Amino acid sequence: MKRQTGSAMKPIAVLAPSIDKKIITNVTVISDEPTTFIDYNNKVYNPIDYDPYRGSITLRQAVETSQNIPFVKIMEKLTAQVSVKYLEKMGITTLNNNDVNLSLALGGLDVGISPLEFAGAYNTIANDGIYVEPTFYSKINSSSGQLFLETKQKKRKVFSKDVACVLKQLLTEPVKGEKGTATYCSIDGIDVAAKTGTTNENYDRWLCGFTPYYTSVCWYGFDTNESIEYGGKNPAGLIWSSVMKKIHTNLPKSSFELTNGVETAIVCKDSGKLATPNCQNTYKEYFLSGTKPERCTMHE
Ligand SMILES: [Zn+2]
Repeated sequence: MKRQTGSAMKPIAVLAPSIDKKIITNVTVISDEPTTFIDYNNKVYNPIDYDPYRGSITLRQAVETSQNIPFVKIMEKLTAQVSVKYLEKMGITTLNNNDVNLSLALGGLDVGISPLEFAGAYNTIANDGIYVEPTFYSKINSSSGQLFLETKQKKRKVFSKDVACVLKQLLTEPVKGEKGTATYCSIDGIDVAAKTGTTNENYDRWLCGFTPYYTSVCWYGFDTNESIEYGGKNPAGLIWSSVMKKIHTNLPKSSFELTNGVETAIVCKDSGKLATPNCQNTYKEYFLSGTKPERCTMHE
């Protein structure tokens, strides 16, 4: 089963490669406004935001409400060719030449991706940049302990654990952010990273995410494409949340760990720059070493 992914594609197609290539940091300021792009085949591409355009925002804010334009702008800098290379390293096997275009950023795909391969790709982030091929068993022993069968999962490094650390912190925003799209996925005392996805005509709903313990991907839709009708919250997210809450019951409190190559800094939310004593609206942000921004000049 392969499906369109919608915005659930953004973390693996745009964010992981672009943080790794140092094209963006979590506070890169991008203008979210109607924009006409010229795609690689010289076709005009006019993606839209589903929610109101937010103007000049940081990457973290773009992730919070899943604005589309900023992600296409980043894809322009990254290029779809480079994105596809990363996706294939993360175990996605169903991309083809028709996917090498800017709409890859928003999960507009030719054939689509299976939930299993999607989970393998998200797990690369959760697993500190190391892809591990999904499996359905570990080993099979006889009753006397003789080993019959043992799985051999392919493993490979896709990006550093520092890149994974920064990205994990960024992906908590849909859960922790005031306007987050997955706030109902939070789990008491345990860090949660999550991203929603919706496709054209409301055919597919996704919730992809992970904690320090588990990665889980949920797809919701019909076998044969039909629009999903529902009121309230994303049904894939509600299933994801109830399963994840249950399997985390009684597990010790846990946070995403800070790695050696990552620095934190107090940042001005308005400008995305290092906070000064004059900045009122501040929070703690995570950066690869050497990528901290300049001091805020908006509140001098
Ligand atoms: Zn400021």
